[in-house]
Amino acid sequence: MNTPYYAGLLEHRLLAGHCEECGVWHTPLRSRCPSCWSATVAPKEVSGHGHIHVLTLLHQGPPGVPYSPPWPLAAIELAEQPGLRVAATLVDTPIEHQRIGQAVELAWIERDGAPWPAFRAVVQ
Ligand SMILES: [Zn+2]
Repeated sequence: MNTPYYAGLLEHRLLAGHCEECGVWHTPLRSRCPSCWSATVAPKEVSGHGHIHVLTLLHQGPPGVPYSPPWPLAAIELAEQPGLRVAATLVDTPIEHQRIGQAVELAWIERDGAPWPAFRAVVQ
């Protein structure tokens, strides 16, 4: 079920499930729409725009990750739909812009040699 999602990442495309019947988006990918139960759902690329909905600053965790300054882990609410969220880290974002409500855009980092989605603050 998640194969299209990960194939999209390899092409630097962030995908979410989209219902062709009612238009509702969802993550992760599912075989049925969680809103109307239609089976006419398909992976669709999102714009990559959104805002920080929840932010956690990690001071410790798995090895191989720098935790000084703390490593940001955010729930990003995507612009496509209220409640459509993905978890990602923040890059190129000064600490003063690491805050709930901050506008962000999709960026890409490399993880174990493969593209991985991250977000950066959009500062006007
Ligand atoms: Zn639906």
